[in-house]
Amino acid sequence: MIALKDSPSNPETGMDNKTLVVIAIDDTDSKNGMCTTYIAYLLVEQFLRKGISFEDYPILIRLNPNIPWKTRGNGAVSLKFRTKDPEKAYEDACMLVSKYSELGKQANPGVVMSTISPPNIEIINFAETALSEVVSRREAISLMKKHNIQYRGWGKQRGLIGALAAIGNLLHNDATFELLAFRSKENWGHQRAVDNESVKKMSREIYPDTFNCYDEEKKRVLITPRGPDPVLLGIRGEYPEKVLQAYRMIKIDEAVKGYLIFKTNQGTGAHLKSKLDLSDLKAYRTGHFECTVIEPPKTGIGGHVYLKVKNKEGYANCAAYEPTGRFRKTVLSLIPGDSIEIAGSVRKRTSKHPATINMESLLIKKITDDIRFVNPDCNICGKRMSSKGQSQGFHCDFCNKTDRKAEKVKFENPRTIQVGIYIPPPRAQRHLTKPKQRYLLKHKIYSPLIEHWFN
Ligand code: ATP
Repeated sequence: MIALKDSPSNPETGMDNKTLVVIAIDDTDSKNGMCTTYIAYLLVEQFLRKGISFEDYPILIRLNPNIPWKTRGNGAVSLKFRTKDPEKAYEDACMLVSKYSELGKQANPGVVMSTISPPNIEIINFAETALSEVVSRREAISLMKKHNIQYRGWGKQRGLIGALAAIGNLLHNDATFELLAFRSKENWGHQRAVDNESVKKMSREIYPDTFNCYDEEKKRVLITPRGPDPVLLGIRGEYPEKVLQAYRMIKIDEAVKGYLIFKTNQGTGAHLKSKLDLSDLKAYRTGHFECTVIEPPKTGIGGHVYLKVKNKEGYANCAAYEPTGRFRKTVLSLIPGDSIEIAGSVRKRTSKHPATINMESLLIKKITDDIRFVNPDCNICGKRMSSKGQSQGFHCDFCNKTDRKAEKVKFENPRTIQVGIYIPPPRAQRHLTKPKQRYLLKHKIYSPLIEHWFN
């Protein structure tokens, strides 16, 4: 831990004349390296050394996961603190971003600073829209100019979108926590030395207060990323104390630079809150809609399952892709007439495929009776008869007997699914996907900054 000295030489000592500041950063990385959360870690470290006092956990906001130009999880970060010198803090942030970003290699960073807290409703609405729609950099810039928000961008400056959205997202309705541990530089690009058994044990012991750490079905550790970035592991959970407790249970066999606990919208389903209009399915949008199944679902090439639905606004093609595992089985059990609510993201129409909704969750609201009319059984041998044609009765091929009066028999096929919410397994979930157990959660109260939120 960094020791904070309350000495007269420390310019940040005392609460007088301190301004409440929020600084947000985004789009600093490429597929070859770096991570915005790591730059946030370095900035927190620098601010703490200077004695800057934090008002809240750093915020990690995941935005529309369907944005094609994202690097990985479409995350942006904001820091809320008090300082006597906001300009200096802003310069420090800009310096770190320009030093560590993958500039010229896919990164188009943005740094945004606001001293207005809470943010104006227009910024809050912008942040809300950025969760489920495509928003423009021009809109972000015009809002920042209007509301006296300071910003700096590099390259295409696209990061200004995510950074502004991170300032406008207050996590008032729901939040989770993630402890991100970072690797020592010499290990970047090498295999991560995290003990799988300890992850499994931790996941079993602390679940549901930590979640999506281990996939029991495929026996797969989910806390370690695969790429060359500085993140060693990320532990998600409901409370800061729990992610820290979980971290201390993990056996790590490599040098760790440190960790930081973020407050986040991960696991809250925030990107699916808005309604999708089937008469106007815009590419890359996310949301939910109620509908009725109109055709029996089908399995296609690659094991993907396709479903056709309608509501009063129109028709939609939906898909549960192969990685969603047994979720596809539930989708396959639907029949025409079932009333459901689908949440997911719109895949752009191509020359080969219509716009398709990638299903992220399925709420079965009403199950229709599966009533079928089948050919009658022969009353001599009991075998199923075949039809002689319309109104001409049925014939038994075994007894060679025709019964002209026989009629089709009503048969009720028992349904194998129940009303309720269905979600793909953890390995196929997005950062924002709300895990099933979280649907049962009552309102949570989080601790203010715990002692060891940074290390
Ligand atoms: P990481 O998770 O490792 O930080 P990333 O997946 O967040 O990487 P970025 O490099 O930040 O990817 O790229 C995402 C880009 O998309 C950013 O420039 C961000 O501002 C922009 N963006 C985010 N949400 C939207 C949106 N709703 N509409 C348009 N652009 C968006």
